[in-house]
Amino acid sequence: MSGRQQSIFQSERSSMHDSIRRTVDLLNEYGPRFRRWRIAWSGGKDSTAVVTLIIWLIASGRVKAPVDGLEILYADTRMELPPLWLAAQDIRWDLEERGYKVHVVMAPIEKRFLPYILGRGVPPPNNTTFRWCTRQIKIDPMKAALAEIGASEADPILMLTGVRLGESAARDARIALSCSSKGGTECGAAQFQAMAGSTDDSGPKYYQPPGRDGLATMAPIIHWRICHVWEWLSGWAPKEEFGGWETAGLAAAYGGRDGDEAQEIAARTGCVGCPLASIDGALDAILRLPQWAYLEPLKELRPVYRWMREPRNRLRKSEPEKLKNGTLAMNGQRMGPLTMSARIQAMRRILAIQKQINAVAKATGRPEIDLLNYEELIFICGRIGAGQWPDGWTGTEVRADTAIPAQSVVMDEDGGQHVEEQQMLWRAPALRSAYPLHYRPRPARLDPWRSQMGVLSDGEISRQSGVCRSVVGEMRRRMRIPTARVHRFSNQQGGSNG
Ligand code: SF4
Repeated sequence: MSGRQQSIFQSERSSMHDSIRRTVDLLNEYGPRFRRWRIAWSGGKDSTAVVTLIIWLIASGRVKAPVDGLEILYADTRMELPPLWLAAQDIRWDLEERGYKVHVVMAPIEKRFLPYILGRGVPPPNNTTFRWCTRQIKIDPMKAALAEIGASEADPILMLTGVRLGESAARDARIALSCSSKGGTECGAAQFQAMAGSTDDSGPKYYQPPGRDGLATMAPIIHWRICHVWEWLSGWAPKEEFGGWETAGLAAAYGGRDGDEAQEIAARTGCVGCPLASIDGALDAILRLPQWAYLEPLKELRPVYRWMREPRNRLRKSEPEKLKNGTLAMNGQRMGPLTMSARIQAMRRILAIQKQINAVAKATGRPEIDLLNYEELIFICGRIGAGQWPDGWTGTEVRADTAIPAQSVVMDEDGGQHVEEQQMLWRAPALRSAYPLHYRPRPARLDPWRSQMGVLSDGEISRQSGVCRSVVGEMRRRMRIPTARVHRFSNQQGGSNG
């Protein structure tokens, strides 16, 4: 290597300087247009980098402080990974000691993740049909907090977010998929940016001027690479000359610094046990650290969420429901809320996870966790006790794994609708999920045999219909048709009597 050639380390350092310089330029260009700044802080790595960096830039005179102050809106979903939450608390106290106001933004109890599921009976979110969580536990509370601050066209506010784009389009596409948020990074971060309309099909933008609501957004580290975020959190920010922040603990809680893309994906943060993530990357990374290994029972959360979504734990409309406008819903026999028994069982399982972790925490002097705190437990038990169901449900509906005639809503030529009963049993998903994929019962094929099920043996029906024998048995149980063995026994009895 020639004397003038930069080492990899030097080259990285120089681009880190470039990144910070670009952030300073952005803040100095757009910042002075606003008297008030707010930072949306989730406690994750990107938004923590924004908070600590901006305060250091102001303290060091590189960026001019807003005239009417800078405040931080800390989003606490109650579902954070415990080590990240604890690390965020250290930084939060540090911010308050430095005189910055930190508002804790949290959803009201009835909208929080676990109380909403267990108290109201709404199934855990999933990617395909029903994703309510990000809006409810992250976006809406942040919107409400911003509304309280009172931005207006005459007195707009600049909201700074931790949205960051990656080095490659492919990577960003993966992030978008994993977080369902354009531009990705922390779950919900891009939606904060989108509140002021600063995203479109091309993804988040670094600045969006204020709209009628008086809210402008800026993503001051949008151009940062993941290695710069780690570099800042674990190398620069903890040094006195860059603010002396307690950010090393946060970087360590992510499993350490590593700039490659795999680590970037693993470090995608969100709720503990997020049912939408394909793998528990962040939790796995944390569990590899000996000091957090006792959190292993948290891995049980995702199976509990999956279990809750099963048809046997939910209700189903047995007939197409009428909508407010008088028409029939096309997905009339849809699955709905959790049964009361499922809610109680799930609550017990979650409390057992919490108890198991806290027993080890107490014995070893490690921090305890509260997946469900006392206030939330009282709320959930109160709602279950009062028999609360989500809107449109009464609790009198059938359990979703009940075999019922399938009905479909058919559109008439004149625009009306009518219900057609199908000549087949409802293909209860319970039957499908109860078996491995290669072994799916096909109740429709058994339907013509329904009248024969009382007189022929399972083996005979199986032989004649071509349906697997155990499926015939399963259908017999679901249709509550006595087993053929009883009939054969009666026949034999009859024969011997004769
Ligand atoms: S991390 Fe997962 S569970 Fe949490 S809000 Fe985002 S999508 Fe929902």
